Amino acid sequence: MPYDEALERFEPVLGLETHVELGTASKMFCGCPTTFGAPPNTQVCPVCLALPGSLPVANEKAIESTIRIGLALNCTIATWCRFARKNYFYPDMPKNYQISQYDEPLCTDGYLDVEVDGKTVRVEIERVHLEEDTGKSTHVGGATGRIHGADYSIVDYNRAGIPLVEIVTKPIVGADRLAPEVARAYVTELREVMRSLGVSDVRMEQGSLRCDVNVSLMPRGSAEWGTRTETKNVNSLRSVERAVRGEIERQAAILAGGGRIVQETRHFHEDTGQTSPGRSKEEAQDYRYFPEPDLLPIAPDPAWVESLKAALPELPSARRKRLQQEWGVSDLDMAAMHNADAIDLVEATVAAGAPPADARKWWMGELARRANESGVALAELPITPAQVARVTELVASGALNDKLARQVLEGVLAGEGEPDEVVDKRGLKVVSDEGELLAIIDQVLADNADAAEKVRGGKIAAVGALVGGVMKASRGKADAARARELILEKLGVQG
Ligand SMILES: [Zn+2]
Repeated sequence: MPYDEALERFEPVLGLETHVELGTASKMFCGCPTTFGAPPNTQVCPVCLALPGSLPVANEKAIESTIRIGLALNCTIATWCRFARKNYFYPDMPKNYQISQYDEPLCTDGYLDVEVDGKTVRVEIERVHLEEDTGKSTHVGGATGRIHGADYSIVDYNRAGIPLVEIVTKPIVGADRLAPEVARAYVTELREVMRSLGVSDVRMEQGSLRCDVNVSLMPRGSAEWGTRTETKNVNSLRSVERAVRGEIERQAAILAGGGRIVQETRHFHEDTGQTSPGRSKEEAQDYRYFPEPDLLPIAPDPAWVESLKAALPELPSARRKRLQQEWGVSDLDMAAMHNADAIDLVEATVAAGAPPADARKWWMGELARRANESGVALAELPITPAQVARVTELVASGALNDKLARQVLEGVLAGEGEPDEVVDKRGLKVVSDEGELLAIIDQVLADNADAAEKVRGGKIAAVGALVGGVMKASRGKADAARARELILEKLGVQG
């Protein structure tokens, strides 16, 4: 069912569960390293392989990071809590249970404010808890890369036991037709919070930030929530948005046709934006949780928690407010920079000496256009903030005009060197020699006698064509304003 029609008939309720792999040096319950991309099964030991007789010891740094995340998300921090065993059976989980937290999470009842469409939406956080990651299965043979139809499967336990923080929202009601955008804005903001805390590299493409998206629909006018589905491991910000939208459309079509929604996990397909059914969703009782007997309870000293709170860095939303004030830009411009992931780049360009307005102009204009054309993120363009700052300086000094500056940026992006080198190599300096400029003007006036005559006769507007001629003859290197002055002077007309 088309999205608009779905929204006319139903109201979506969202929930987001985000897993963040912490960037600790060692695993959650053993001393194994956590480096990404190591050869399979080289970062394992008796504890994370769950060999008989091995005992876990909790990673203090991981507990500290989880508390800091909870504090940044305005949560209450437990003064006493425990780990729990979550029993389920997958070959990528060597213990056949996962050490997690159940009824006693470390952090509860917080919130994160996100900006969508110029409005602030408060997303309430139910809980933040600490658990361990699983290993990684690869299914070989078969068309889909899934276990069904595979010839055989192999498993890598390097990831097993890496500390994983799960952040669960309360149901998000009232986002209405902006539900997909709210989901995306939440994950984006959450990622920035994690980055500012330095607790994780939050690379969605490497799986260090993974998102499960819960969606249900209720008919307009009804207060009764529908059955929800859980779309697993959506691994890009764009996919979060698409997964919500796709699931709203799919569920609306089923409900409108008199069908019912099955409570299940679903897989998101990057290529189509659709989801397909996974397994039917377990209930909490299926996991047979019980307190983990091999680990001590966690009882963070309130004074320590206070000191962690006092030492939190400036959080992204506060930083954006401060920069907006410093740069004197509108809410709309700031939101645009945020959406384009340009704030860090503009800030670094300003730090390298560019006026904020110029830094913003180039990153959000010419460079955004080029990034878009090449299908890369702004930050991936092969140009540094310092180089952009140098270009703005050359423009401010009159050595370049905007048109030439664009060519300099093009040269830098093409690997032709620093901005000054590109100016030299491509001969891009503005014609600053007045004699040279006058010679060009004489030629243009001679070639355009009609236009010159009109200007002499008082039709000042006709001077535009002459200036255009000068710019063309100089291949864009003339100072247009100065050319206009000189032309009018030569024709004996007051500009
Ligand atoms: Zn280990």
